[in-house]
Amino acid sequence: MTTTETATTTVGHWIGGKHVESASGNSAPVYDPALGIATKQVALANEDEIQAAIASAKAAFPAWSNLSLTKRQQILFSFREILNRDKGELAEIITSEHGKVIDDALGEIARGQEVVELATNIPSLMKGEFSDQVSTGIDVYSIRQPLGVVGIISPFNFPAMVPLWFLPIAIAAGNTVVLKPSEKDPSAAIWLAEKFTEAGLPDGVFNVLNGDKLSVDGLLTSPDVESISFVGSTPIAQYVYETGTKHGKRVQALGGAKNHMLVLPDADLDLVADNAINAGFGSAGERCMAISVVVAVEPVADELIQKITDRAATLRIGDGRRGCDMGPLVTKQHRDKVASYIEVAEQDGAVVVVDGRTVRPDGDENGFWLGPTLIDQVPTTSRVYTEEIFGPVLSVVRVATYEEGLELINSGAYGNGTAIFTNDGGAARRFQRDVQVGMIGINVPIPVPVAYYSFGGWKNSLFGDHKAYGADGVSFFTRQKAITSRWLDPSHGGINLGFPSNN
Ligand code: NAD
Repeated sequence: MTTTETATTTVGHWIGGKHVESASGNSAPVYDPALGIATKQVALANEDEIQAAIASAKAAFPAWSNLSLTKRQQILFSFREILNRDKGELAEIITSEHGKVIDDALGEIARGQEVVELATNIPSLMKGEFSDQVSTGIDVYSIRQPLGVVGIISPFNFPAMVPLWFLPIAIAAGNTVVLKPSEKDPSAAIWLAEKFTEAGLPDGVFNVLNGDKLSVDGLLTSPDVESISFVGSTPIAQYVYETGTKHGKRVQALGGAKNHMLVLPDADLDLVADNAINAGFGSAGERCMAISVVVAVEPVADELIQKITDRAATLRIGDGRRGCDMGPLVTKQHRDKVASYIEVAEQDGAVVVVDGRTVRPDGDENGFWLGPTLIDQVPTTSRVYTEEIFGPVLSVVRVATYEEGLELINSGAYGNGTAIFTNDGGAARRFQRDVQVGMIGINVPIPVPVAYYSFGGWKNSLFGDHKAYGADGVSFFTRQKAITSRWLDPSHGGINLGFPSNN
């Protein structure tokens, strides 16, 4: 069976509350990574379809933004119930296009659901401030209002969670949305749109536009789009930030990562090894918060590497629907790119301790397999160290002291997440203050903040001033007005050309 013969259905758009087939004639294959075949196509929108999605959101904005907070809140509550009820269905969809194992797909849905739950509290989150009697008979207060049409552009690695980082707060705050999902796994976004409609969301409030760079550029340059929330690789994040802001938009653009785990000599090495496996190889390393470098403060490296090696040998790699620990990579192209770093490591004089190229998966031989890979003594000049690999490749760099480890982490181009493993509270506290990274774990390997904090890194991991969700999310999706109010009283008559002052 050839690739094209299997790809009979085409994932279209969701515009104005319904499925819209694409007339563009352009499409891209969507693979089942565990089978290694294209199971469907995804439409790539043309200019007319891009404008139709934006127009749909624009038309829905006046009524949606004027709906009471209570009514918007009730739709969020309904959506939360539907998401929770049908999450198994969504997990199957995610696994069939992304490849991650079902449990992991359920995990990303749970983290997305947290933000939905946060957004059900929108009446409190959007509260303004009030100052009584700032001057005689004068009060000052602030209100928050939605922006209008907001664009969300998401990556392949969390096809449900990343849209849900933004969507619930954007919608609850009264905005209308055009979401451009990754063309590698577009079906989760359409599913979310169907379920929001079932929850009572009016047509046009949430639109899904499938497409490629043309769609992204359409959102970035449209005068009708007020803001862009982007998550993806650093070069595209930077492009999106620069292009969007040049067109007068508010932009938050989250980029790539290279996350280090600093292991101090007093750490519990069994705990560290368990966590290095979970954070290095979970979701086949295709997480922006994955640990990709273990920085071992000597003398722990030999013992730790042995423990990680022993554990890696027990992992079952295979089809995510078969109860395996780790699934395939998202595409053949990406699998081959990740595997090529193992060759680079060999050429650069690193020691390949566990080689994922020899994996024997529990799955179809055509799947995009690469097993867990552990590489010791990685030179910090090697591309294996300097570049984001985004696969199940864990590097070990040995350092002599805490200071050397800290310096290494702080000299990196990214600043998304990091973790320290130690039993020394003083060292951990020093680390949390000194490290130049946005999200820090203390004996926690993947410190993704809960929904009521905000998610985002520093340096090349985030372009813009606002992180995702939490207080930053509410701030991003609303504009504040400050109102100075006086109800007329005869005692305030008379002309005064002086600058207003508070007395
Ligand atoms: P990507 O940058 O290739 O794609 C992200 C989005 O941008 C997709 O919707 C894609 O269609 C679009 N896009 C791709 N090329 C484009 C171009 N030239 N012009 C305009 N738009 C373009 O990223 P990906 O491979 O889907 O996702 C993996 C990357 O995302 C990794 O670098 C990972 O670290 C990062 N990521 C970061 C976070 C974070 O919170 N910082 C979270 C998840 C993923």
